[in-house]
Amino acid sequence: MQVSKKTKITPEKENPAPCSTGQEEFLTPYPEESAPSAYPITLTQYPEEQEEFDSRIYVHPSATISPLARIGSGSRIWQQAQIRERAVLGEQCTIGKGVYIDRDVAIGSQVVIQNYTTVVRGVMLGSGVFIGSNVSFANEYVPRAISGNGQLKRNSDIDFECILVRYGASIGSGAVILPGVRIGLFASVSPGAVVTQDVPDYVRVAGNPAQLVDYVCRCGRSLKPEDRTADWTCDSCR
Ligand SMILES: [Zn+2]
Repeated sequence: MQVSKKTKITPEKENPAPCSTGQEEFLTPYPEESAPSAYPITLTQYPEEQEEFDSRIYVHPSATISPLARIGSGSRIWQQAQIRERAVLGEQCTIGKGVYIDRDVAIGSQVVIQNYTTVVRGVMLGSGVFIGSNVSFANEYVPRAISGNGQLKRNSDIDFECILVRYGASIGSGAVILPGVRIGLFASVSPGAVVTQDVPDYVRVAGNPAQLVDYVCRCGRSLKPEDRTADWTCDSCR
């Protein structure tokens, strides 16, 4: 594949079947049998400078967590974040200030979501995913408040499209991810990109609409096409 600013993204795999059974294998969901108490521990003493994660769940008093949400051990939920019903969050996640996690969203372990990002219904984030601040996920191809005959649409009238972000991928601040998009393993979306189609594994995209700009190592460093190895590692990681 040629690498240039204008290279069209060509998904290396089949088109995703949004939200279908079998897409969840890359997630590390919190195990049902060991779910913590319905409501996580609320601490008024937030571990501001604590680098090491422990097994406790830290929730800032100003955050709103549904009793029906499940939060994995060691996760931290910052100020004014909201986590809705049946959302599942893995272990050692960091949820920044003002982050909104919608109903039924599935998030793996060791995921970082920075301030004011909105994760809407239909989004699935694999483990090790990084989401910058103010990232938007769009989950409807046909967004309308009302139907064609002027009736207010209900939730049951809306077809939510799944967005999958696979293990180790990162999405820069201010990016917009359109419905049905799948972002591959360790892929990287540059800040402000508008991602309209699938991003293959180990590819970096940028711009509007997002285009392939180069390849990336698992660590996030750029990889020239000629430097690519079978395991996609840069000199520093070898
Ligand atoms: Zn590397």
